[in-house]
Amino acid sequence: MIPSSFNTVIISSAALIHNYTYLNSLSGDSTFLAMVKADGYGHGMFECARLLQNAGCKDFGVAELREAVLLRQSGVTANIYTMIGFDHKYVADFFDYTITPVVYDIQSLESLAQEAKRRNEKISIHLKVDTGMTRLGVYCEELAKLLECISKHPQLKLAGLASHFPCSDDVKSPSTHRSLEAFRSFYQKHDELQSLYLHISNSGGILSFPEAHLDMVRCGIALYGYHPDGSAISYTKHLQPVMSFTTRVLQVKTVESGVGVSYGHTYITNKRTELAVLPVGYEDGFSRALSNKGVVLVRGKRAKVRGRVCMNLCMVDVTDIDGVQPGDEVVVLGKQGDDSISADEIAKTIDSISYEVLCMIGNNNERVIQ
Ligand SMILES: *Cc1c(COP(=O)(O)O)cnc(C)c1O
Repeated sequence: MIPSSFNTVIISSAALIHNYTYLNSLSGDSTFLAMVKADGYGHGMFECARLLQNAGCKDFGVAELREAVLLRQSGVTANIYTMIGFDHKYVADFFDYTITPVVYDIQSLESLAQEAKRRNEKISIHLKVDTGMTRLGVYCEELAKLLECISKHPQLKLAGLASHFPCSDDVKSPSTHRSLEAFRSFYQKHDELQSLYLHISNSGGILSFPEAHLDMVRCGIALYGYHPDGSAISYTKHLQPVMSFTTRVLQVKTVESGVGVSYGHTYITNKRTELAVLPVGYEDGFSRALSNKGVVLVRGKRAKVRGRVCMNLCMVDVTDIDGVQPGDEVVVLGKQGDDSISADEIAKTIDSISYEVLCMIGNNNERVIQ
């Protein structure tokens, strides 16, 4: 048997399903697409998709074709969408694995049409427009060319029109209304677009802009228990964090005042100090930026990181926590006793967002589904 790591990422299937049920009801009649890119934001794409599919979710989104094919091979029978385009040499996979591409250029349309013709099949596609994100997608004047190309190829079945909000995490941002208006102007200019599947909302749109739910919503971070604005409405009844991360104490040592800790001695003890050595480092997604800043929970209390976070190890100060011993459980992310550490809290410490913290921790440690 292969030994387990000291470190475990625990994925709560109950929390995931709770969030799905809540967000799906919030989305009303709109189709609910679960974003499972980035290995399910670090929570495990296969496991999350399987749980969500069993709970009734019929639409999944990933970034790349590679993820879509792997997801299909894992047994997902629901609709799968690729969001960021594809290498044309793999175009056949859209047909072999029944995957829906979101397209933003003529070359991809031609490539899909050629393959469809060769196989004597049709394929459903969605088009991506840019309504203010300034990322993937075409502007209004370029859309006409794509529509013309589609009308020349009866193999291409235009099924949907997509855009993406840049600032929907901010309830007060006027940009979201402008974006939605811009999106409306696209399909008001082109009659053939009105009957399509229209979608623009990410988690921010779902939570704060009901008028933007349209025909489908694409939900990522909220499914995993976090509000996109970084406010920890974690551990409330609405959204429950799905991931927690635990480790254990390897060694406890007492050092005198004036002793340097870890690489570069960036921390020098200012009194007799008790340190716990933990098998957690930047390799585990515990960012080196948490050096001298991060906190973990030991025996229900907060212990601060002292000195630099190493690749596989870090030291935390347990001077004020009684009775810490090797083998004690340590919570890096999640609840212990009456306290908890959220991905938002870790993100704030390192000037990042919960998304990145979850990807880093989740995708670098052994995951256990509970
Ligand atoms: C990632 C992504 C989403 C989901 O965004 P969240 O803020 O995590 O809800 C929606 N749409 C597209 C195109 C994405 O890339």
